[in-house]
This record gives sequence, C-alpha cells and structure tokens, in this order.
Amino acid sequence: MDAIEAAQVLSEIGYLLRQDPKEKFRAQAFSTAAWSLAVERPDLATLHSRNELTSMEGVGAGIAKVLAELLETGKSRYLDRLREEMKQPARDDESMLDFADYKGDIHSHTKWSDGKATMLEMARGAEAMGYRYLGVTDHSPRIKVVNGLNADRLLAQSREMAEVQAQVPGVSLLQGIEVDILEDGSLDLPDMVLELLDVVIASPHVKLRQEPAAMTERMLRAVSHPHVDVIGHPTGRRPGSREGATYDYEAVFKEAARNKVALELDCDPARMDLSPEMARLALELGCNFALDADAHAPAEFAYVPMGMWMARRAGIPKEKIMNFRPLEALTMVAK
Ligand SMILES: [Zn+2]
Ligand SMILES: [Zn+2]
Repeated sequence: MDAIEAAQVLSEIGYLLRQDPKEKFRAQAFSTAAWSLAVERPDLATLHSRNELTSMEGVGAGIAKVLAELLETGKSRYLDRLREEMKQPARDDESMLDFADYKGDIHSHTKWSDGKATMLEMARGAEAMGYRYLGVTDHSPRIKVVNGLNADRLLAQSREMAEVQAQVPGVSLLQGIEVDILEDGSLDLPDMVLELLDVVIASPHVKLRQEPAAMTERMLRAVSHPHVDVIGHPTGRRPGSREGATYDYEAVFKEAARNKVALELDCDPARMDLSPEMARLALELGCNFALDADAHAPAEFAYVPMGMWMARRAGIPKEKIMNFRPLEALTMVAK
C-alpha cells in the first residue's frame, strides 16, 4: 500500500462522510489527510514501523488507525462499513488505474482568471508531477467575478504561454478555456475564438436549478457543439452542500458519446463530479472521460492521484480516459 493508494482510501472515506452534514468536519479531516499524502507521498511503511504515522500533517490518531490497518491488511473496515451504510454496492469490476500511467491534466486555472498561481508556477507544478502536458483552461468572460478571458486577453495569454513553454520545455502547454454553458446551451465565446484553442471545456456554473427539461436542452446543445472537447464537472454539484443540475442524464450522455465529447471526473474534493455512480452510467452509454484536478494552485494537482478512486469505482478502464493517452493521441487536438 503506497501513499497514493492510501490517499485514495482516505479520499473515499472523506467523500462518503461528506454526504452526512453532521460529519462535515470529520469528512474534511479525511480529505485533507488524503491530500497531504498525495502531495508529500511519504514512505508509510517506515513511518508505521516507527509508530510515527501521526507525525504527518493532518493525520490524527483516528486517521492513523485507518492507515495502520491499511498497511497491515490492505483493507479498511471503516471504509467497508461506510460503503454499507451509504448503500454503495460491492463491486467486483473496479478498474485498475495506476497513477504512474497518467500523462497530463487538461483542466487548470491560473492568475489569468481565478487561479492563485501564475502560468509559470502551474507549468512547473505539472512538471513536478511528471506530466507531459497541461491544459490551461481559465474562465470565459461571463464569470465576471473571476475576470474571465475574452478574445483579446486570450491572445495576450498565448504570448505569455509561448514564454512559459520555453522555460518549461518538458510539459506541452495546451491553451484552452473553461467556457460557460449559458442558459440556452450556447457558449460564452464565439466559435471563431473557440476553434483557435487546443482544449475547450464547456461547464455549467450558474442557473443549475433550471427545470429539468430546459436543463436537458441546454446540455444537449453544449455536447453537440462542434468545438467542445469536454464537459467540465457535468452536474455542478458540491457533495454535502449543493445538489447538481437535474437533467435527462441518459440522453445527454448518449449524445456526448455520439459526438466524442468527454465527460469530466473533476477530482476537486468539493466537487467529485461526475460521481462514481453517474460515471458508471456514462461508461455503459459509451462515453469517454477526462480525469482532472481543476487545479487553482500547484498543490491541487494532487487531487487527481487522491481522487482516482472515483474512476476505479466506476469501472472505467484507462483506454476510456483521455489523460492516460499521450499528447499525440488526444482526440481534441485534432478536433
Ligand atoms: Zn468550473
Ligand atoms: Zn475549472
């Protein structure tokens, strides 16, 4: 049991606890410990043998107990119990995904919109993760509070990207956008701008409580757009605090599969969207996926190694996840 596998167990425990508002703080403690494991990647066996698991940041006695059991038996009875209580079915078809095969994250933010780090810091962060590519996908203009990018600012951003690319040659930078899906399903930037970008992630951010028929129309229009590569956090939910949008998931996922638009598993612990259950439905309907951190700072890239359990529980094989493909094979590059 290495640190990344353990991080995934703690992350799933945090996720299950999050469904119960009374467990909010315990849920956060597990998610934070998972994150710290995924960032630091400590040698857990050595720490355990020295009785020093609690020396790690965010690891108190309760979490150390879970880790000790994991190291000794490879299992967590606490997780098993939570799964049972939360009616999470036992799965004998979980996929084996190895973070070592993950090639790059395609959804990230910089100070160009609401990120906390510069593009150079994010590129260096991706390099430190061993990534071959990074999609820089800041917000579109409609999200005014975060200073979304219009065509002029995208052009300016592309100049900075060329400079950063020269400084971080090992990570191919993809210029993209996280474009808002407007209420009627149209996108927040004109086609002539979108077609120039390497990655277009279309995401629902506002008016998520639209009535289901209108929301279905809105999402169908977004997945039918010729320049959209990925639907970001497809429901907009925030486990424990905000329900996601309700729409005809089956119809939208089918159309996404038909148009080769990938659905995202956003690994931010505040989102975890699509959920494993919804991702399983999408897989059955033939969809492809993107597995991203939606990082707003370099340390948040570690959301992927800690959140990968979602894709495993959904049974998604790595062939169906674009981030496991080399850059040349990313279909969106050709789109
Ligand atoms: Zn978003
Ligand atoms: Zn985002």
